[in-house]
Amino acid sequence: MKAILFDLDNTLYPPERDLFSLIDVRINRYMEEVVGIAADQVDGLRRRYWRDYGATLQGLVRHYRIDPEDYLHYVHDVDVAERLDLDAELADRLAALPVPCFVFTNGSSDHAGRVLDALGIAEHFDGIFDIRIANYQPKPNVDPYQGVLKALELPAGSCVMVEDSLDNLRTAKQLGMTTVLVGVGPAADFVDHHTEDIREAAGLLDRLHAVSAGAVS
Ligand SMILES: [Mg+2]
Repeated sequence: MKAILFDLDNTLYPPERDLFSLIDVRINRYMEEVVGIAADQVDGLRRRYWRDYGATLQGLVRHYRIDPEDYLHYVHDVDVAERLDLDAELADRLAALPVPCFVFTNGSSDHAGRVLDALGIAEHFDGIFDIRIANYQPKPNVDPYQGVLKALELPAGSCVMVEDSLDNLRTAKQLGMTTVLVGVGPAADFVDHHTEDIREAAGLLDRLHAVSAGAVS
């Protein structure tokens, strides 16, 4: 195990914090007020873009030629501290991990930095890979994963992916990563390990590293 890739939203903090609902409102407002899409069209378009492209951003770039940087700045302009608190226990567990940790998110690195700061865990990460890594192609497209592996100069088999999204873990597994699902809900055959929350996942990762290090020596 050479690197651990953590998804950000609903992985490093639980979905009950509902941070995404703040971003959700901003996405709708961007589509209406900046792009000029009629309010009654917004929900349907978002569903279609999610289905066809994996993210609203890709649909707006393809169909409305929006500036992705403008979009990222606008939709992530939310007060993360309104929903997130310091997580000292998670910080301790991450500090104990003897493997470099990275954020790998479909959001922006600015947003990721604010979330890490609000949780008090920024110092335990060695870097952030965001939606820009493969020309705004989101997970579960394979391109951003390959971009991350290339940047890290690591084979997929030496990386662990920690995620709340099954779709995103499927791609990780297809590439050869070890997969850890965080959260309640059914697992799948491409999920190697399943934990209910991120603190538990960090403990598991520590044990997995000990096992893999023992196997090598
Ligand atoms: Mg997530």
